[in-house]
Amino acid sequence: MAVQADLLELFTGGCFCGSVRYQVAGKPLAVAVCHCNDCQRSAGAPMVSWSLYAQSSLVIIKGKPATFSKSGAAIRSFCPVCGSGLFYTNSLSIPGRVDVQSSTFDCPEAFPPQAQVQVAERLDWVNHLPELPGYERYPGPDKIP
Ligand SMILES: [Zn+2]
Ligand SMILES: [Zn+2]
Repeated sequence: MAVQADLLELFTGGCFCGSVRYQVAGKPLAVAVCHCNDCQRSAGAPMVSWSLYAQSSLVIIKGKPATFSKSGAAIRSFCPVCGSGLFYTNSLSIPGRVDVQSSTFDCPEAFPPQAQVQVAERLDWVNHLPELPGYERYPGPDKIP
């Protein structure tokens, strides 16, 4: 007789180069876009979307992520080869849980955010992105106004 955990859908993901691969079981507890300065600096991007899981649902199936902690209990994991950010843990703010960078899933469209957090540090121009002209593909440097 199958136990409940066996019935959970598995989602896989990994870094840019493929050295690190992981899987999680079931749907995330929450998905949120974070606008904090630490996420911006760490990712080199205006925001990061995170999918929250129980730490026990995350299994590394290939490679070994490197970790970095700048301060306190926050630990960020990333691929030691290509540098892709992968996971975030914090024994104080999210004990027993792990945040997975949603865009590293093989099916990132399956993890739409439900909220934005740390909007006090959101870059103002992020609010105006829908007003900008859009191109299906990169049109070349001379075509962008
Ligand atoms: Zn990699
Ligand atoms: Zn953040």
